[in-house]
Amino acid sequence: MTNPDLLIRGVRIAAELKERSADPASADAVDLRVSNGHIVARGAAGSLVPQEGERVIEAEGLIAMTGLVDLHTHLREPGFERSETVLTGTRAAAAGGFTTVFPMANTSPVQDTAGVVEQVQSLGDAAGYATVRPIGAVTEDLGGERLSEIGAMAQSRAAVRVFSDDGKCVHDPLLMRRALEYVKTFDGVVAQHAQDPRLTEGAQMNEGALSSELGLKGWPAVAEESIIARDVLLAEHIGARLHICHLSTAGSVEVVRWAKARGVQVTAEVTPHHLILTEETARSYDPRYKVNPPLRRDEDVHALRAAVAEGVIDIIATDHAPHPAEAKECEWDAAAFGMVGLESALPISILSLIQEGHSSWAELEQLLSQRPAKIGRLAGHPETLEVGQPADIVLVDPDCSSVFNFTHLQGMSQNSPFLDMRLPGRVAYTVRKGYLTLDDGELVSPDAVAAAAKFAEAAL
Ligand SMILES: [Zn+2]
Repeated sequence: MTNPDLLIRGVRIAAELKERSADPASADAVDLRVSNGHIVARGAAGSLVPQEGERVIEAEGLIAMTGLVDLHTHLREPGFERSETVLTGTRAAAAGGFTTVFPMANTSPVQDTAGVVEQVQSLGDAAGYATVRPIGAVTEDLGGERLSEIGAMAQSRAAVRVFSDDGKCVHDPLLMRRALEYVKTFDGVVAQHAQDPRLTEGAQMNEGALSSELGLKGWPAVAEESIIARDVLLAEHIGARLHICHLSTAGSVEVVRWAKARGVQVTAEVTPHHLILTEETARSYDPRYKVNPPLRRDEDVHALRAAVAEGVIDIIATDHAPHPAEAKECEWDAAAFGMVGLESALPISILSLIQEGHSSWAELEQLLSQRPAKIGRLAGHPETLEVGQPADIVLVDPDCSSVFNFTHLQGMSQNSPFLDMRLPGRVAYTVRKGYLTLDDGELVSPDAVAAAAKFAEAAL
């Protein structure tokens, strides 16, 4: 089994679409040749002639970006394989245009030792649909009491650089300080799930007039903002890198803007769902809209979009959180928090940012690929689509739109809030390490992908 070389013909390059609201057709179309996992030739459209045995992709009308990188994914394995596995979650990733995912540590056992992070990485390597870079837990068993084996995970074969107790907040300020001091020694980063546990006990939705009206316990914005404020000051004091998971309020944006102006090494992410959905969805009492942090007010959605446009928010991350049907098909109070998001991330980003004039295609590539790779210190990720770069590539049809439905969901769970919505943009092809994982909208078979991954590993 070898990987045929690829010739991608007549594609437009996202990085060249720098103007917001630019017509994709305004960039010059190019041909790209991929061989042995790298881009080996690039020329004007029509300049590269197909060679024998080469797979030709006619990409007229498509936009090429470096492969998407998700810094915040829940793959659920080991321990919760009825929600998702590394295989099914990375299939969802490939379907969404992602070539790398960073799975969070809240598995069972928790990803808090070298053994578990290496196991998760190996499962990803064997499946072959995406590069899997596990996130290590900050505290043992996510217990919030003792630091986990941070150094051992950093030095393991998984070379962990991102640490998070996501799902839970590192609430103890002394433990947070120690974690920041520790990761600083090897250029790691702590990714904080900012949620004061005392201020959110039993909380069900955003706190405000609507939570009172609906009779659901409120989750105040200050529960997020106060933790972010504390942690940016700690990060400044230590001189370490801090990443804030899923910003959801206008006040959080203010705090991060202030911290960045002071020179704090802080980066921030927003989820696609917080860029488009509001607390009003709770009126339906449909648990598909129950998520942590909760969906907020219209003003917050606008502030988050503006923060992306301004650069206060650095990246988009999915917080893909699969749950089996029984965890969602119940009363709101009893339902699990979370939504799947890998397959819908790019369409929602196009809808909320590109179509609203907040981002250019070049900026979208930064938000969904380049900056998450940098924050996660991801090795082997292409910086551009120039000759010599690794061939992690996604090809998107910006003009295609479709009603999002179960056929779009390639993971094991179906708890998407976007079902039945008409969404723009079709992920047409995903190329990882030079081989196709998604071919004209269809996932390539597991056997073929696993064989190609093995071959690519040997060739690189
Ligand atoms: Zn979280």
